[in-house]
Amino acid sequence: MFSEGLMNPPKNQENQKQFVYIGDELGFTEEYLGDPSTTYTENGKIYAAIAGYLTVDKKNRQIFIEGSYTERQKIPQPDDIVTGVVYSIRKNSVGTKINTINNLVVVDMGLIGNIHVSNVSKSYVDKLDDIFDKNDIIRAKIVRQEGKEFQISTVDPSLGVIKAFCKYCGHEMQRKGKTQVICPFCSNVQRKMMANDYGDIEEILHF
Ligand SMILES: [Zn+2]
Repeated sequence: MFSEGLMNPPKNQENQKQFVYIGDELGFTEEYLGDPSTTYTENGKIYAAIAGYLTVDKKNRQIFIEGSYTERQKIPQPDDIVTGVVYSIRKNSVGTKINTINNLVVVDMGLIGNIHVSNVSKSYVDKLDDIFDKNDIIRAKIVRQEGKEFQISTVDPSLGVIKAFCKYCGHEMQRKGKTQVICPFCSNVQRKMMANDYGDIEEILHF
């Protein structure tokens, strides 16, 4: 059942609204039509592709979401540049939580960006956990949306890790040549898939 929507009373009896977030389940494709620009379908279900007010047009059996222009802007589009924090490293992909889109900080909307092993570098990459660590801050490009998540790429010299912290003592790692970083405190040396401006970035990224 739809909520009463006290803050946003329906404009008429046909449309009743509630606020939904990306990835929220909205209905079944057997019952309703989705809207290609604000929803997506997967396994017979319709999901929210943007955050906004869910609108159900019962007469035309269509579901769409009314989002403001700024809300739409927060959804990464192909070729947008995002930054994120690495939270998981699997055999074939690195999972990140997206924090900025084109330098704009996004509120925590649960946007997940995955770097598939084939999208890491032009050169062959063997072990992802050899060049990425949890809590690394990366810069990447959006490839495409896949359901709730985004495929992102670091295949460009300007993309990759932009800040990393020592996994032993937490100090910020400094660049040591092309492919390595060193901890100034405990001298731990690690390989890292760095962006070409690693270490030159002055702004402090707090999340
Ligand atoms: Zn250290």
